[in-house]
Amino acid sequence: MKNIYFDNNATTKVAPEVVDAMTPFFKDYWGNPSSMHTFGGQVKEHVDTARGQVASLIGADPSEIIFTSCGTESDNMAIRGLAETVDTPPHIVTSKVEHPAVLAMAQHLTRKKGTLVELKVDSQGHLNLDELRDSITDDTTIVSLMWANNETGVIFPIDEIAEIVKAAGCIFHTDAVQAVGKIPIDVSKTPVDMLSLSGHKIHAPKGVGALYVRKGTKLNPLLWGGHQERGKRAGTENVPYIVGIGKACELAAAHIDEYDTKVRAMRDRLEAGILETCPDAVINGDCENRLSNTFSVGFKHVEGEAILLMLDDLGIAASSGSACTSGSLEPSHVLRALGVPFTYIHGSTRFSLSRYTTDADIDYALEKIPGVIERLREISPFSGEDAPTSPLSCKNCSSKSCR
Ligand code: PLP
Repeated sequence: MKNIYFDNNATTKVAPEVVDAMTPFFKDYWGNPSSMHTFGGQVKEHVDTARGQVASLIGADPSEIIFTSCGTESDNMAIRGLAETVDTPPHIVTSKVEHPAVLAMAQHLTRKKGTLVELKVDSQGHLNLDELRDSITDDTTIVSLMWANNETGVIFPIDEIAEIVKAAGCIFHTDAVQAVGKIPIDVSKTPVDMLSLSGHKIHAPKGVGALYVRKGTKLNPLLWGGHQERGKRAGTENVPYIVGIGKACELAAAHIDEYDTKVRAMRDRLEAGILETCPDAVINGDCENRLSNTFSVGFKHVEGEAILLMLDDLGIAASSGSACTSGSLEPSHVLRALGVPFTYIHGSTRFSLSRYTTDADIDYALEKIPGVIERLREISPFSGEDAPTSPLSCKNCSSKSCR
């Protein structure tokens, strides 16, 4: 049975070097880094090394890195931690295509009082920067916009955005969970105030992340308690995982060029092959300005879940543009924001590669995918002349775009 993994934006394989780096911190060096004795000292220096490795990948100073448990915690901490430093009701500017780790926190903070601006994107997944400029007021607490989208891979122009936000005298956070390790990031040149990253997207294990906080940025902790992480994130440090994310960042820096060369070439070959062999397939979002490892393709009149199940049977893992929540298949909020038509949105499938993807993986996928789409089209009640051209009402919710 094949075991081909095209779901690297969901999570990645832990790099063997990362496992090797972490192992001694389970077996031999299990002290608490805050302890004054040798057991503590032995591990503290490795936490410091990891902080340097993370900082170095994004051009930060080690003192600007706070270790967290995941990208979600980093996003939550940036937005809530900042909102809590001001007495006025929060005014938060973000976009409709952010990860729920940003959107749900921003919605939560502004539910009772305050204002939330969710900027629209166009069909390519791009923001209108004039709208961004106009949305920032004297009361804006924070602007939070992602570096790269997890579903389409579309990259926001973060340098330009940061300049606009800083010119307006506002704090700028970016969720760079999908961008880190895939495109060069240098916070010494790009004026972001805070940046989130997550270990399990860059070949470290799940359960560790980091938040970059530019020196001088006021931020309240999310977790209160001890003085760990310079009082910004209480809780005894998760030393093995911190060592793991440090090593993963070091490896990401060493391999980052492969994303623009080897990974991009494989992604392009897979994408072009699918478009050539599967009729009525379109790419969601901008094909130029996007991560080199990702593409989201909409197959007309086919169910994404059926595609995933059939691919899984063939040993190929991808991901769909719908989330199965409480029995109803809700189309992705990202694809809805792009205005992907009803006939394509349910058949949208995301393929995301990594530096471990091989040419043989692409060959095998190209051999199998056209047959899967053809078979599903044959049995689809929506293909052919009787296919509906407008959305049906969903039986589980009132949405017109959710079938
Ligand atoms: N932000 C983006 C863009 C993501 O893709 C993800 C995870 O998919 C997250 C945040 C959340 O990261 P984590 O799974 O580490 O909480």
